[in-house]
Amino acid sequence: MQAAGKGRTGITYGTTPMDPDLRLPLDRSSSDDEVRRVVEAWVSAHVPAPWQDAAAHGGRAAIRKVRPRAVYEEWYPTFADSGLAVATWPVAYGGLDLSSAQARVAEAVLAPYNLGRLNPLGLNSAAPALFAHGREEQRLRFLPPLVRNEEKWCQLLSEPGAGSDLASLATRATLDGEEWVLTGQKVWTTWAHLSDFAICLARTDPTVPKRRGLTYFIVDLDAPGVQVRPLRHIGGEVDFNEVFLDEVRVPDAHRIGAAGDGWRVAGATLAGERQMVSGSGSGGVDRIGGSGIDRVIQRAIELGRTGDPHVRQQLMQLYSEERIRDWTNQRVRGAVQAGGTPGPAGSIGKVHQGSLNQRLQRLAADLLGPDAVAWDGPNHDLDAWAGAMPFESRAMLRSRANTIEGGTTEVNKNIVAERVLGLPREPDPYVDSAWEAVPRS
Ligand SMILES: Cc1cc2nc3c(=O)[nH]c(=O)nc-3n(C[C@H](O)[C@H](O)[C@H](O)COP(=O)(O)OP(=O)(O)OC[C@H]3O[C@@H](n4cnc5c(N)ncnc54)[C@H](O)[C@@H]3O)c2cc1C
Repeated sequence: MQAAGKGRTGITYGTTPMDPDLRLPLDRSSSDDEVRRVVEAWVSAHVPAPWQDAAAHGGRAAIRKVRPRAVYEEWYPTFADSGLAVATWPVAYGGLDLSSAQARVAEAVLAPYNLGRLNPLGLNSAAPALFAHGREEQRLRFLPPLVRNEEKWCQLLSEPGAGSDLASLATRATLDGEEWVLTGQKVWTTWAHLSDFAICLARTDPTVPKRRGLTYFIVDLDAPGVQVRPLRHIGGEVDFNEVFLDEVRVPDAHRIGAAGDGWRVAGATLAGERQMVSGSGSGGVDRIGGSGIDRVIQRAIELGRTGDPHVRQQLMQLYSEERIRDWTNQRVRGAVQAGGTPGPAGSIGKVHQGSLNQRLQRLAADLLGPDAVAWDGPNHDLDAWAGAMPFESRAMLRSRANTIEGGTTEVNKNIVAERVLGLPREPDPYVDSAWEAVPRS
């Protein structure tokens, strides 16, 4: 659903409000027993009966069979309206204002139903910036529809010449009265073709060093001058896009943080994104996808491969690492819910999760044998070709991106080296030079 009058000329309040009657009657004073009881009653009244049956009798695999994505998306606002999707957030933004301990009690009741959070880039990239640096009217305008998945979000950060060195980006923003005019090219923009809004980093002052001349904006993707061109990835599907901005007008009311302070604002987004990819963020891998190793073990059993000592050893190694990943993610989540920041632990989790998932998917494809690389499919229709590919092959190909997206493994290791191990910073001869004076390819 599109928000009425969203966008161009200022903050508007036209989106569907959260229905207070549907919000659960819980607050900070609720006891653990009360939280458990109220959430159980909500599940039995609002989670569709076939999903409850599947959860009780077949677990996550059975739920996936009876719950197509489109059906889940349609039902999802019911979940959001309960406040449970973001239970620790303030009520005004769509949460219940529960403590992290209370939220864990609620999560434990919800866990069997695998109610993954939708709009992951909204929750993990846009929301942290709005919380840390946004204005109250921006939070009230953008967070509730984001929680309901009514307005979907993506992030316009990377450019053809600025990925790891994001601060060198070249998209320009100049102020014209009460509006900024943005021109430039972004790339690898996940879900831009499905999104309503994007967070965007642009250069507002080229005369100062690169990190000091950036400003952080909310861009309405329906605005004139925005062109989204899908890119097809190695598995044949469209996930990400090139986005061209040609004199796109963005109201000053859609600026987050001060002009020139965009790098600091982006810090909240990038930490949130690392958390999401590592699985410790809202709706991260261990919450949405469930356990990868459980699925691979199940596949090994079905294929009769569990007697092979080499397979057993790999399964055990990956099982142990997945548990360690979950504990690391719990620690990061706990720190964030207690008001801290994910810190470098987010980078450690991100580095580990990337490699873990690649090895997991590789093993799943190995178990399948030749069927993982040779299957019947049409030659010319890319969509049908991607559809014919076994799940294991798609997941293996997709996992190659895990060590690139959200900051490459090498760059995250640099963060750990500098901020955890205390090694000297990478030398940058241009650290004090104006951005416009730095040579670029
Ligand atoms: C699936 C996927 C989804 C993505 N989604 C988004 C999105 O939604 N929005 C968005 O803005 N971006 C997105 N990205 C872009 C992503 O953030 C960048 O690809 C990533 O930051 C790397 O930048 P780059 O591709 O320009 O590679 P480069 O920065 O050019 O890096 C090339 C290689 O050099 C290495 N390298 C670079 N600098 C250093 C260094 N200082 N030390 C050691 N090694 C280094 C890198 O590790 C890499 O191996 C996505 C990428 C992928 C793969």
